Amino acid sequence: MEILLIEPSRVGRKMMGQMLEQRGDVVHPFALGGEALDHLRKHPEIEVIITSVEIQGICGLELCWEARVLSNSRNPLYIVVMSSNWERRKAIEALDSGADDFIQKPPDRDELFARLRAADRLLRTQRENHRLARTDPLTGAFNRRHFFDQLRQEIETHGADPLSVVLMDIDHFKKVNDTYGHDVGDLVICQVAGLLIHADGVFGRIGGEEFAWLLPRCSEAAAVEKAERIRRAVEGMTIGTELGPLNVTCSFGVACRLQAETAGSLVKRADEALYGAKHSGRNAVAMASIIDGLRNAG
Ligand code: GH3
Ligand code: MG
Ligand code: MG
Repeated sequence: MEILLIEPSRVGRKMMGQMLEQRGDVVHPFALGGEALDHLRKHPEIEVIITSVEIQGICGLELCWEARVLSNSRNPLYIVVMSSNWERRKAIEALDSGADDFIQKPPDRDELFARLRAADRLLRTQRENHRLARTDPLTGAFNRRHFFDQLRQEIETHGADPLSVVLMDIDHFKKVNDTYGHDVGDLVICQVAGLLIHADGVFGRIGGEEFAWLLPRCSEAAAVEKAERIRRAVEGMTIGTELGPLNVTCSFGVACRLQAETAGSLVKRADEALYGAKHSGRNAVAMASIIDGLRNAG
């Protein structure tokens, strides 16, 4: 595991570092709490923090709390607090400050390893729960909630940069289900999603056969080009079925974020553009700016 170790004593750091490295852990050692927190912010791969209560700069319990807050928006973190004298009051304070475990310093090797094995089990479960909470089970793409979370976060953190959203919906999909059956329908949804699952940006399934693609730092023209490429790829895809080969098409709506626009309004404009693409005969990419222009003109 990747472990952030905060221990003021050089000898203590070295001893624990060696102990953990024997276990196969990657250790990031620090003497000061502030520096360790900065490092944690830049290294999402860190999964475990082992910190002394007695550290300089910010105290061990403050560090615990800051790291716990940080862990709400990153990969799960397991926090172990160490103290040279084991006191019940200190243990309670540490656990209430966001720690998962409290141990005596210097730790006994076997005990520490057993506690880290328990941490590993918990982290695996938490990571899996996180993955399930943001994934669409049919396609493996992000689900609707995660897509919108990512969109809002992107607007919050990079609101000054251009950002485009592409919405797509499979054409005449009810007919696919009716003619070929629901299982083939599911297969079509998976094949279409498969074209975008490893694409740049954030790709999610936001409805039955509706998908959304978030493209950070992407102008409307560039997003249209990308959507057009996917439109052609869908059109060129053949799905083998018991009733013979099946071809489908998709319609697309593209919108680029206007200044100060909310996530909801941006997606609404992309959806209006998608409606325009459906209206124009399907298997097409429509731009929100053109739809907005037409509305303003008439
Ligand atoms: P349009 O071209 O206007 O989009 O026509 P459409 O027939 O595709 O209409 P619509 O988008 O409203 O159809 C959605 C259909 O998708 C209705 C529903 O039966 C089907 N559907 C929704 N979720 C699933 C799913 O998970 N699997 C399958 N096989 N079908 C689904
Ligand atoms: Mg639909
Ligand atoms: Mg449809």
